[in-house]
Amino acid sequence: MLRQYELVDRVLDYDPDADEALLNRAYVFSMQAHGSQKRASGDPYFSHPIEVAGILTDLRLDDETIATAILHDTIEDTVATPEEITRLFGGNVARLVDGVTKLSKIEAQTENERAAENLRKFLLAMSGDIRVLLVKLADRLHNMRTLHHIPKPEKRRRIAKETMDIYAPLAERIGMYEFMKEMQTLAFQQLEPDAYASITKRLNQLHEGGGDLISRISSGLRLQLSRADIPAEIQGREKHPYSIWRKMQERHISFEQLSDIMAFRAIVPTVEDCYTALGIIHRRWPMVPGRFKDYISTPKRNGYRSLHTSVIHADNARIEIQIRTPEMHAEAEGERRHTKNHRKRGHQDRPQTDLGGLQKGLRTFKTLSACLIGKVN
Ligand code: MN
Repeated sequence: MLRQYELVDRVLDYDPDADEALLNRAYVFSMQAHGSQKRASGDPYFSHPIEVAGILTDLRLDDETIATAILHDTIEDTVATPEEITRLFGGNVARLVDGVTKLSKIEAQTENERAAENLRKFLLAMSGDIRVLLVKLADRLHNMRTLHHIPKPEKRRRIAKETMDIYAPLAERIGMYEFMKEMQTLAFQQLEPDAYASITKRLNQLHEGGGDLISRISSGLRLQLSRADIPAEIQGREKHPYSIWRKMQERHISFEQLSDIMAFRAIVPTVEDCYTALGIIHRRWPMVPGRFKDYISTPKRNGYRSLHTSVIHADNARIEIQIRTPEMHAEAEGERRHTKNHRKRGHQDRPQTDLGGLQKGLRTFKTLSACLIGKVN
C-alpha cells in the first residue's frame, strides 16, 4: 500500500501547487473512518481507496480528484457523513464523493442486459463532473485487480460480467483505453478461464524467440524500407487476449488464422512511398491472400485512406501492416479523436489539459444520454 508521503509526493511531482494539507487530511480521515475493516484479501480496507488514488495519480489528476478517491467509500461504508466531508474537505470534494456514492448505489441494481444499458446511460448522465466517473472507473479497476480474493465464484462472475458489460465500454467511450484493456483482460480471465489460458499460452509461444517481438519486427520493417531510401515511422501493437478471443469468435477462426494479433503501421512521406513500401514488404514476406486493401485508390466512405495488407512473418506469424502518409495518419487519428491514451502524452501536459479532452468527450455523451433519458421522463 502507498504510504501517506508517497501518495502526496506523487501528486506534488506533477502538480507542485496541489493542496498538500487537503491530501494529508483525507488520508488520515479515511484511515480512521475505515478503521479495522478488512478486504476479502485480508488487507486493511483502507488499502483500497489508497490504491484507487494511486491509479489516478498515474493519470496526473488534480488534488480534489485524488482526495475524492481516498474518501470514496467513507459515506457508503463508514459512519462518516456528507456534512463532515463538506466541513473538512470543502464543497467540491463533498460533491464528488457524493457523486461516486450515488453511482455505487445505482450499480447495486443491475440485473440483465437491459438494466445494464440503462445503467450505462445513468452513469453518464449523473457524472456531471467527469472526475466522478474517473474515480468510479479506477475504483472498479482496483476491484478487478483484487477480484481473485473473493471466495464465491458466482460473485466473481457477476462482478466480471458487469465490468465487461458496463465499465469497460464506458472506459472506451471516454478514451481510457488502458483502463478498458486491463478491465477486459481481468474479466475475460474470470469469465472464460480456459480460453484465456489457451490464448495467453499461445501469445507466450509467439514471444519465445526472446526479446520484444513488436520492436524486433518494427526494426526489421524500418530496415527494409530504409534500404530503399524511405524514411518510415513504424508503430506496432499487440492485441490483448480478450480482443483476440472476440475476433476468433466473431469470425469463427483459429488463433493461427488471425492476421492482426500483431499490427504495424508504417508512416512514409508520400503516396508514392506507400506503394513502394508495399512492394518491398510483399517481396520480403509472403502476403496473406484476401487481406490486401487499397484504401488510397478507393478511400472508405468516411474518407479514410491507407494501404492494408497482411504478411506471413517468421515462424508462420501473420502480421497486419497499414501504410499511410502523415496526412492520412492525421486524418485517421482525427476521426478517432480520443484514440491516444493520454497517459502516453508528453509530460509538459498539465493535468487540466487531460481533463479538458475527456470533459469534451463526456459532454457529448451527456447530451446524448440527457436526450435518451428526457424521452423516458
Ligand atoms: Mn471502492
